[in-house]
Amino acid sequence: MNYVVVGASAAGINGVKYIREMDPDANITLISKDEYIYSRCILHHYLEGIRDIKALEFVEDGFIEKNQINWIKGVSVEKIEPKQKVLILSDGREVSYDKVLLATGASTFFPPVKNLKEAKGVYGLRNLDDAIEIKEKAKDAKNIVVMGAGLVGIDALTGLLHYGKNLTLVEFKGHMLSIQLDKRAAKTYQDAFTNEGVTQYYDTAVQEVIVDEAGAVQELVLSNGLTIECDFLIVATGVRSNVAFLEGSGIECDRFGLLFDEYGRTSDESVFGAGDISGRNPIWPAAVKEAIIAAANMCGKKRELTDFFASKSTMNFLHIPTMSLGTPDAPDETYQIEIQDDGYQNYKKIIHKDGVIYGAIIQGDLSYSGVLTQLIREKINISQVEKSIFNIDYSDFFHLTDNCQFTYND
Ligand SMILES: Cc1cc2nc3c(=O)[nH]c(=O)nc-3n(C[C@H](O)[C@H](O)[C@H](O)COP(=O)(O)OP(=O)(O)OC[C@H]3O[C@@H](n4cnc5c(N)ncnc54)[C@H](O)[C@@H]3O)c2cc1C
Repeated sequence: MNYVVVGASAAGINGVKYIREMDPDANITLISKDEYIYSRCILHHYLEGIRDIKALEFVEDGFIEKNQINWIKGVSVEKIEPKQKVLILSDGREVSYDKVLLATGASTFFPPVKNLKEAKGVYGLRNLDDAIEIKEKAKDAKNIVVMGAGLVGIDALTGLLHYGKNLTLVEFKGHMLSIQLDKRAAKTYQDAFTNEGVTQYYDTAVQEVIVDEAGAVQELVLSNGLTIECDFLIVATGVRSNVAFLEGSGIECDRFGLLFDEYGRTSDESVFGAGDISGRNPIWPAAVKEAIIAAANMCGKKRELTDFFASKSTMNFLHIPTMSLGTPDAPDETYQIEIQDDGYQNYKKIIHKDGVIYGAIIQGDLSYSGVLTQLIREKINISQVEKSIFNIDYSDFFHLTDNCQFTYND
């Protein structure tokens, strides 16, 4: 069997790894624009100078050779011809496949703000090349602005904290990390960044980029009426899936990205998908899981994605650990909320309805995260838990009745 995997990151690398495990004799080709196998989640460590390129790798030395992968790197797939089962590469080569896994991920989205796309001194943080450029050029900057306070924006900010520059964060939403955190948990981080000297604007949009005679960013006009100095702008306002090469192929996409089902199957039976290319749930563990599922199904072993929780993020900005699961705020008043808060950096919140947990935040002391994961994994109806939900410990999980019913009442 001739397998091709496009993309050498969370999804692609796990794809080739599991295909090799399941089919020791297969021909496996990996094609990627990336020339290194590195974790995007720790690019800020490169900015900070605490990791070099080698230390960003997430595979063991010799991974490619050991798994007998034919890696075509530094080249992009420009087109796919599903009828001929051929990929056309940027260097003109044609690569044929029996089955292909598309794991091309996503790219920085530059929103339609006046002058943003044309201005010099504007960067995204998605690839190693971006991090290399930012690290090199930020040294000469004076006023650095990060636009967008999601995970990528806060990573960028963290990576630049020690450069001795004026740092400003501008966010459209009311608080930092609004997908992962509620206002309370976000405030802990916001205060910590304030203590580090970062100026922050929330409920504020960048409306216009003002450039100098050379076309370089000079100032930003904000929706709160302020115009701020900026000679280095990092845009972290979201991503768009890399699906341009699918145009005209007939392989179905929607406005978010590539469509694939819980088996990783796309609209073409020889083409599978995994990771950020879907434009949904753009987090590392989801990409890994989807790739493992797709690889199994490519190799004829039926496996279905039955994730116990759609979105899970862990972070540790400024040494304050936080785990967030699902929704950070109750969607409406029919949901119940349990909170434990020491008023400082230890905060726990669970959002539930009819006994089912829909969201949780644990900040500071993460020891409860194991218990929480068990509650979700064991599908425990928390409305039947008689003690405080936050006082449950591991010993409670051994209280199983003869017919394997779970009980806390013994
Ligand atoms: C700065 C930053 C911080 C992050 N922090 C976190 C975090 O803390 N936690 C978390 O869970 N997630 C985090 N993420 C998100 C996480 O990195 C992504 O969800 C994950 O990388 C998705 O993996 P992927 O394999 O689907 O795609 P990507 O990582 O985007 O990789 C795509 C691959 O495809 C290749 N490629 C693209 N187009 C083509 C083409 N046409 N032809 C050939 N090759 C192509 C690329 O070179 C690359 O190898 C972060 C992302 C960034 C950028």
